[in-house]
Amino acid sequence: SHSSPFLHPGAIAKTDRLSIVHLKRDLQTPTILKDHDEDDEGYSEGKVVNTRFGSFPHTTLIGLPWGAQVRASKVDTGSRGRRGQKQEKKQPQEKKRKRDDADSTEHPNKRRDSENGDVAISTPVEGKEEKEAETASSGFIHLLPPTPENWTSSLPHRTQVVYTPDYSYILHRIRARPGSSIIEAGAGSGSFTHASARAVFHGYPREADVNGTSKEEKLGKVWSFEFHEQRHQKLEEEIKEHGLDGVVQITHRDVCEDGFLVEDQSPKADAIFLDLPAPWLALPHLTRSSPPNASLGTSEAGTPAANGKAEASTTPFLSALNPTKPVHLCTFSPCIEQVQRTISAMRKLGWVDIEMVELSQKRFEVRRERIGIDNGAQRGLQTTPASVDEALARLIEVEGTFKTFHETGEKVEGKKDKGNPNNREKILESLVERKVYKEGNLVHRCEPEIKTHTSYLVFAVLPQEWSAEDEEKARVKWVVKI
Ligand code: SAM
Repeated sequence: SHSSPFLHPGAIAKTDRLSIVHLKRDLQTPTILKDHDEDDEGYSEGKVVNTRFGSFPHTTLIGLPWGAQVRASKVDTGSRGRRGQKQEKKQPQEKKRKRDDADSTEHPNKRRDSENGDVAISTPVEGKEEKEAETASSGFIHLLPPTPENWTSSLPHRTQVVYTPDYSYILHRIRARPGSSIIEAGAGSGSFTHASARAVFHGYPREADVNGTSKEEKLGKVWSFEFHEQRHQKLEEEIKEHGLDGVVQITHRDVCEDGFLVEDQSPKADAIFLDLPAPWLALPHLTRSSPPNASLGTSEAGTPAANGKAEASTTPFLSALNPTKPVHLCTFSPCIEQVQRTISAMRKLGWVDIEMVELSQKRFEVRRERIGIDNGAQRGLQTTPASVDEALARLIEVEGTFKTFHETGEKVEGKKDKGNPNNREKILESLVERKVYKEGNLVHRCEPEIKTHTSYLVFAVLPQEWSAEDEEKARVKWVVKI
């Protein structure tokens, strides 16, 4: 089916379709909306999303326009002791990565927690969540349509995943576009899979396209490979649930061993993304013609049999690549040693324009630093009168000269200016008005590079093979144009 909420979300949230319950920037719960609870018939509220901001029965979400702000249910949806009531497990959505945490602004839900003490919501859950539920009170969520971006930040992690800053750049560089055929291995948790499915999706097939085969290719397709059985199975289910099975085809396969042909069909890939521990072992399967075994050597590039199997040599060679275009490739590896082996194999296999890129996103923490006043004293300024005095004295001592110069234009001899009552007055004034934080040196700190490193991206292009016949055709075109 080509009906996917990722590709055609429509205007409202619908039954049996994926929606994203958005609590705050780094906390989202993907939910397939159900108008009843199969496991607990007889309870009218049916399935419920329980969050730290309150409870949200699915029936109150179905039919709402995307983007709706929804207040927690005032009805007691608690299920303590209830037989069989299905509590949707909270996804561990708090982002582990700082990089996705750019906006640390407090969510209004937090403020509302204390303001709205009057609305009692019962969200009893067991164990660890019980504690959280005790402190939780009513808040609100926003109901959002799924996108590759919010799916990436809320999906159940089964592996490391490729994040939005990386995959948006990768898809751009490998020229993924509507109609493209993309090979992806390994699929892992399906983060890149969803993003690439949207990138290549071309629209609904017309009747003629479905029946005929001629236009099939133009629809765009992700040929996805994963060798871990459970991961493959889970992703296949997810892709079906998300209505992306018409765009994504997942194959359970070790691509280093068995290459990229699916049931003897070639993906005719325009672009390739390899997120594997040893991409150099997969590269020999991504050639235009059977690679020269001798020059590769198994230690460098693995078993170089073109179609994977040893017996492939007896069958005519079929390339997994689009023969009529240059093919764009990206590999994703965390270590430079992997990059070196990959590039070495690429060179031997005829890849050109090889380039390595690292995307680094740094957060800069900007603050004012007052020389001579430690943080404790600064905090003290706001609280006890004793520490105000203490901090003030140090402030005047350290910065008296500087302030006098800037505020009165007078130059004061000597470094210290303990006794200037005017100065003391002014500083006190600024402290009262809390202007003190506008003073001092503006400094910044940034995260160490090691914390922001995700992977090295290696890009390369395999040119189209060019025959004398192609040259002849090109010349004719050229002549005709003139
Ligand atoms: N790109 C994925 C995402 O965005 O969610 C994450 C990929 S994960 C880091 C790497 C995956 O490659 C793992 O799930 C692993 O099982 C799979 N894998 C490793 N070697 C493979 C091979 N030779 N063939 C197929 N899959 C392989």
